[in-house]
Amino acid sequence: MTGEYGKEKALINHLFSLPPEKLDAIRGKPDLVLNAIDDFQESTKTHYMDIGQVKGQIIVNKIQEKKPKVTVELGGYLGYSAILFGKELLQDPAAHYYSLEVNPTFAEMAFKVIDLAGLSHKVTVLVGSATESLVALQQKLRKDVSGSHAFDFVFIDHWKDLYVPDLRVMESLNLVAPGTILVADNIYIPGAPEYVEYVQGSSDYKHEHNARVRNVNGYDYIGRWDILYDSKTVPVELHGRKDALEITYCTGYTEK
Ligand code: SAM
Repeated sequence: MTGEYGKEKALINHLFSLPPEKLDAIRGKPDLVLNAIDDFQESTKTHYMDIGQVKGQIIVNKIQEKKPKVTVELGGYLGYSAILFGKELLQDPAAHYYSLEVNPTFAEMAFKVIDLAGLSHKVTVLVGSATESLVALQQKLRKDVSGSHAFDFVFIDHWKDLYVPDLRVMESLNLVAPGTILVADNIYIPGAPEYVEYVQGSSDYKHEHNARVRNVNGYDYIGRWDILYDSKTVPVELHGRKDALEITYCTGYTEK
C-alpha cells in the first residue's frame, strides 16, 4: 500500500481483515494482538517504529518493579507500546496509561488497535502535542488525585529533539518528582546525546543549560535545575546493531 501512511494503513487493514475466527481469537488478548503485529512486520519485512519485544521487555520489567498508578508515554504511534505496557496495569484498577500522540491519523489507528486488544478502559490516547497534553493531564490529575499528582512512570519515545524540552515541561509542572521513573528510547539510534547529558548532568549543568537554552515548547517551561536524577544508559543489541535505553530515577531535590 502506497501513499501517505501507506505502511501503517497496510498493518491496520491486515489486522482488521483477518478471517473472522482469527480476529475473534485475538480480540481482547493483548499478547496475541502484539504477536499479530510482529508477525506482519516479519512477513512483510517492513520496519515500524515501535519499541518491539526486546527493548520492550526491559521496560516491562521496570513497570513490574515500580507498579505505577499513572504511566504516560510521549509518542504513541500505532499503540504497540501502549498495549505492551498498558497490559501490565490490568491487575490494578487504579492504574492508568496515557498515550500522547500528535498525529491524529496514528492516534485513530492506535485507538482501534488498543480497543482490539481489550485495553481501551486502561489506556487513554490523548491527541495533540505532548506539551499540550501534559498541561491538560496536570490539570486532570490535580482534580482527580489528592496529594502528589506526579507521574509514576514515563516512557519518552517521540522526536529526539523534544526529549529535553518536554522533560523540562514535566519538571516545570512538577509532573516529575522523587519516585518517578523515566525511560527514554533510541539513545544510540538515531541518538539523543543532549538528553543523556541533561539527565546525567549535575545541578550546575542543568542550571546553566536551562538559563541559556530557551525551551521551544514555551519560555515558561524552564525546568528544575534542583531536581536530582540517578540515570544510566542501558545498551541493547538489536539485529546486530546497538541501541540503548536511558533509565532515570528521580531521587530528590538538592538542598536549597
Ligand atoms: N511508542 C511507540 C511504540 O513503541 O509503539 C512508537 C512511537 S514513534 C517512535 C514516535 C511517535 O511520536 C510518532 O507516532 C509521532 O507522531 C509522535 N510524536 C512526534 N512528536 C510528538 C509530539 N510533540 N507529541 C506527541 N507525539 C509526538
